[in-house]
Amino acid sequence: MRCITIFLFCIISVSLQLLHAQNRYYKTETHCHSSNSGDGFISPADLLQDYKSRGYKIVFMSDHDTMTDVEAMNFPGIFSINSEELSCGSHFNGFNMKATVPACGMSNQQKVDAILAQDALVCVNHPVAPRWRITAKEILALQGKISFVEIYNPTDLYEAADDQSLWDSLLTAGWHTWGISSGDVHQFLPLEDIWIGYSMIHVDTLTKDAVLDAMLGGDFYASTGVELKDYKVSGDTINVSCTNCFRIIFWGDNHTILKQANTSSLQYIRQPGDQYVRAELILDRFNKAWTQPVFFDLTTAINNHKNIPPEEIYPNPSGGQFKFYYYLEDKNAIDIALYDLQGKLVRKIFSGAEQSGRHDLLVDVEDLPNGTYFLKMQSEQFSISKPVSIFK
Ligand SMILES: [Zn+2]
Ligand SMILES: [Zn+2]
Repeated sequence: MRCITIFLFCIISVSLQLLHAQNRYYKTETHCHSSNSGDGFISPADLLQDYKSRGYKIVFMSDHDTMTDVEAMNFPGIFSINSEELSCGSHFNGFNMKATVPACGMSNQQKVDAILAQDALVCVNHPVAPRWRITAKEILALQGKISFVEIYNPTDLYEAADDQSLWDSLLTAGWHTWGISSGDVHQFLPLEDIWIGYSMIHVDTLTKDAVLDAMLGGDFYASTGVELKDYKVSGDTINVSCTNCFRIIFWGDNHTILKQANTSSLQYIRQPGDQYVRAELILDRFNKAWTQPVFFDLTTAINNHKNIPPEEIYPNPSGGQFKFYYYLEDKNAIDIALYDLQGKLVRKIFSGAEQSGRHDLLVDVEDLPNGTYFLKMQSEQFSISKPVSIFK
């Protein structure tokens, strides 16, 4: 297949250095309930204070069928983004909501549509919880981008590992759906951490755009207590290590174990046919962490995933090279170029007439300094800007 010849990830060098960026991983709750939920017990302010005292920096308060305006509270020491858990039937979180959606009576598709209509991000919550179960097949039938799925929520029962197999069903279908671990608390956090899921989000500065971009780009990991120490993807090789785990498993297509060992540091080299690889890091039955998947064959993913956004940079963060995938409705004269954070042009990539349809461009950035850039695609009709991080 053509995708094998263009695939490139054997020559793309991605290097995601976490060692020097530990302080930029922010402990995040993506799912919790205040007294505005009806089944929540404490006020929004007391809930935020509780998270603050436990070392959290980012909280998405996702009250049932109510958007609590936590952004307006501007709670000191906690960064909040307005959200809602659309309940009744299967539950979906909308991250970055602008107004309440009364979700009762809505179908799953209507809930997804209502979230996307507010330019918010969709998360499927506790998919294997008996009362609110939604199957991989039902999720895959939904239209519109499903950005996240909860792979750990205490409601799903800790030892029902079905969350991960459901996640792998979505990934095997080519969906770029990132795994989230959440606490879903309805009262003060328990003294013991063991049942509490959280995510570690990698951002330089705590702004809404930075947090949402990091989440959308999969620049975070899910955890219930294990800390990622280092995570590097270089060509076909993935290295992962933790500070407090003793077992590492690499998972792949169809929920298959690719490699496992009792260790705190493990390497996996991509084998022919691997579409994606993700790592699970285990301390014990309660304390684990999950990296987001590395996709090796985005062409297949794009063909399979009709919901994929029209433009995508992969891999991002990037090493010496990345690919820019884009789609044009009509034949168009376009300019594609890289700019630095000050808006200065650093690299012209393409300029000319392009046919309608899907395209991809290999961009060499070996000579550029590490940092964040913006890739812009412009024509007379439109202008699109996508952040890209370069870490070599
Ligand atoms: Zn729920
Ligand atoms: Zn909930």
